[in-house]
Parts: sequence; C-alpha cells; structure tokens
Amino acid sequence: MNPPPAPTLDIRRPASGEALRSIPVDDADRVHAMAQDLRSAQIAWRDLGPDGRAGWLRRWRAWILDHTDELTDLLVAETGKVRPDALVETTASCEFISFYADHANQFLAPERVASTGLLSLPKRLTRSYRPHPLVGLIVPWNFPITLFLMDAAPALAAGCAVLTKSSEVTPLTCARVIEGWQEIGAPPVLQHVSGAGDTGEAVVEAVDFVQFTGSTATGRRVAMRCAELLKPVSLELGGKDAAIVLEDADLDRAAHGIVWGGIFNSGQVCISVERVYVVDAVHDELVAKVAAALGALKQGSGARDDVGAMVTRAQVDTVERHVREARACGARVLVGGERGDGGNFFAPTLLVDVDHSMSCMTEETFGPTLPIMRVADEAEAIALANDSAYGLSATVWTRDTARARRIADQLDVGAVNINDVFSNLFAVGLPHNGWKSSGLGARLGGAQGLRKYCRVQAITEPRLPLTTKELTWYPYSARRTAIAGRVLRLAAGRGLRQRLGL
Ligand code: NAD
Repeated sequence: MNPPPAPTLDIRRPASGEALRSIPVDDADRVHAMAQDLRSAQIAWRDLGPDGRAGWLRRWRAWILDHTDELTDLLVAETGKVRPDALVETTASCEFISFYADHANQFLAPERVASTGLLSLPKRLTRSYRPHPLVGLIVPWNFPITLFLMDAAPALAAGCAVLTKSSEVTPLTCARVIEGWQEIGAPPVLQHVSGAGDTGEAVVEAVDFVQFTGSTATGRRVAMRCAELLKPVSLELGGKDAAIVLEDADLDRAAHGIVWGGIFNSGQVCISVERVYVVDAVHDELVAKVAAALGALKQGSGARDDVGAMVTRAQVDTVERHVREARACGARVLVGGERGDGGNFFAPTLLVDVDHSMSCMTEETFGPTLPIMRVADEAEAIALANDSAYGLSATVWTRDTARARRIADQLDVGAVNINDVFSNLFAVGLPHNGWKSSGLGARLGGAQGLRKYCRVQAITEPRLPLTTKELTWYPYSARRTAIAGRVLRLAAGRGLRQRLGL
C-alpha cells in the first residue's frame, strides 16, 4: 500500500479564487530538527557581535530592495492586496532592519548601574544583555512581511536565531524573504516553516521565546502553553480601534484620514479605524464627507484600484455578518454593504445610526467597514471608546492638540495618533503594544524592542581589595555579629538615614 500523500497548503489568489501554489506542511519532527540546527548556528552568530550581524542585516535589506518587484507581485497574488498597499510592506518594512542594524551596538552595550545602598557600595554593578538562543515568530496573514520583519530584525540584531511560522494562508512571500537571507550567504540562523496551528504549536515547544501576532483567541492559547512551559512570550493581538472626532476638527482631513485608516488593506489591519464617534455638532457634516470619500474608491485587482480583496472567505463572512446584524438592529448603510463578485471582496461600507448593542461596534470586524456613531460630547466619546475589551490604539481629531493630549491620557489604549492614523507603527522609537485583550508585552520602542529578545544578566565585581574576612561571611563571632548588625541597621534606614529624615 502506498503511504498517504504528505499534507500540503494549497494557496489561492483571494482576488480570483484561482490556485496559486501548493507547498508541503512542516510537521513537528521537521520543526524540532530545524530548531536544533538553528541553536547550533546561533552560537557563532552571537559571537559575531552587533557590528558583524548588522553587516548581514544590511546585505539582506539590499536583497529585499533589489527584489521589490518580485516580492510585491507575490504579495499581491497571495493576499489580494492592491499594489500600493503591498508596496508599503515590501519597502517601508526595511526601516526595521535599518534601525536595529544601526543601533544594536549601542542598545546591547553592557550598562554600568550605580550602587544604591551600603551593601552594594563596595561592588561595581553591570547589567549585560544576552540573547535568547532561539526565538519563534508566529505571524498572521494580514501583513506577511511587515509583521515578520518587525520582530525578525531586532531578534537577529540581538544575536538570536529565528524560526518563523507564517500564516497557513499566506506563507509564500515570507518564505521568499527568508530565502533571500540564504541567497546572500548569511549564517544559517533564520528559517521558515509552513503549516497551521499544529506547526505553530510545535514552534512554541521548540523555541526559547515566543513572539506571537494574531487573534486574541489564539494568543490566549499560546500564552497558556507558554505558562505551562515557563517560556517568555510576547503577544500582539486583536483590536477595535476608535476614532474620536470633535467639533473643532479639520473635518476634511478627519474624513480622509478615517477613510484611509478604516479601508487600507481592506480594513485588515490590527490598528484599523473600526468605529468612529463624532460629536453631534459636526456629525452630519463628517458623515457626508466620509460618504463622498468612500463612494469614490474603486475596488478590484487592477492597477488603478484603491481597495483589494480580503485574504480569506471566512473574513468576508464575518464582515457580512456584522453588517447584517447592524441593519437588523436599525443601522443604515449609506455606502456599500454587499459582497463583491469573483473573489473575496466586500464593498467599502459606511454604517450610521449604530450603537454598542451591535457587533460592528464591539467585535473586531477586520474588514472595510466604517460604523459612525453620534455622541453628545467629548466625555461620551471617551467613555464609549473605553467601553471595549480591546485596547490597541485610537485616533483623536481636533485642532487643539493640548485637548487631544488630555483625551489621550484618558484612553485605555497602547497608542494614540492625533490627527493621523497608523503613524505610531513606523515610529520605531515608540513601543507598539496592546493593552487589555489586545496584547501582552510590546514590540519596537527603541532599545526595548531589541532587549526584549535578551535575557538580562546582573554582574557584580569587587571594587576593594579582596580578603577572606568579609563582614557577613563565616566564621561568625559575637563581635562581628554586633558590627554587622549595626551596619545592616544603618543600611536599612535605622541609623544615619533616620536621623536625617531620609
Ligand atoms: P490567528 O490567531 O488565527 O493566527 C495567527 C497565527 O497563529 C497563524 O500563523 C496561525 O497558524 C497560528 N496558530 C494558530 N493556532 C495556533 C496554536 N495553537 N499555536 C501556535 N500558533 C497557532 O490570527 P489571523 O487570523 O492569522 O490574524 C488576524 C488577527 O491578528 C486579528 O485578530 C488581528 O487583529 C491580529 N493582528 C494583531 C496585530 C498586532 O500587532 N496587535 C497585527 C496584525 C494582526
């Protein structure tokens, strides 16, 4: 009897449904074998030092930029993105490589720490950053390159080896970028595996640190397994980002920003504008401007189209359900509202007369919809924006930036963009972190984005000549115990400090 055929991933073009390529699934044995090879290679990679590693990262960046057309074509094919959306991924993501190649030396330098008390005074204290040997990246389907490079660049720069599992529906471009690492002849510290949840589970088992990006439901499962394994994990999860539009906003800019922030990449962005709160005074005017801007968008897979397909049919089903449920509860559809023909299309959609009894305002839609809700004032907008299980980011639209900063202080989200959308994402010096059910830990954020891939080692060295008679060591005696007691009391604040009132 012939053995059963090896399982494959059958990748289709979301824009047409046409078969694109089949690739083999990597099972747990293959994942563990790769992990072993990566661990062996990591030692030399670590010892190469930040400057040596930066050289390879820059050569890889050059390879990606030399292959922009090929990578963009592949990305368009497997995700259904329109070309301008895909180009952001294949070019702007190199920023993450540049930043960490340029700064790794500085961020990894051992840090001298000042002594903080009497007991540590005779010691020289150093904090040293030592890479986790093997980092596992688990990547979703909405940005197969950006969400890979955002984490791969700092992890490699830190001196880790990296095992990446891309999404089972969009593995091709990520795998090709990793082939680029091999084509430049870089050390074998970066590998790609293909597969769905089973392969992801094997990656979680095999690595030392897990960086997961995906849905809150899967993230929770991954975190539970990491808790059992006592393995560090960082989670970037779902969102339901609010936009708040105030009466003193530049309404033209707000309308265009919100339309781009809600519809870019067919709304499949973790920090998409998913719900809009507009104060009563300008509600109708903003709705008219958003309707005009949305109505002008062209959808399809051609060179002149603005909005592409969605990656999966299941995601189109979710969007359709949210619109159907909103309608059933009294919402009105002013633009769009229907599935398209031929591929995974859903028309850019404007919903009004919505409220928090509707799934379109409470669940992550992850599609090209903009539900706009009328609110009485700023306070109601803030309360509703915070009335969510998620806390990824938000936008505030007003000409008064001091007012916007005061509002930011009251929003329970990891980032606030004032009069703009998405701008925090490419501000590599700022952290990208979800609060509440949107995540645990952070990515990027300058030095923090690289040091998260390191274990911190504390080192103490004596400052004074060494003897065998340390005050607190053996042998104990009544006299030494009395002296040690006085010193320890002084250190603890019962002596000089207390007299000085410190
Ligand atoms: P998903 O959770 O279904 O899958 C994410 C990845 O996890 C995939 O590679 C999948 O194969 C893998 N996986 C599934 N089960 C697993 C398991 N048991 N163990 C290990 N890995 C497993 O998410 P998705 O549908 O691919 O992506 C969309 C979601 O990602 C949305 O909720 C979106 O908001 C979120 N997202 C978040 C961010 C962020 O930075 N916060 C960025 C992009 C996307």
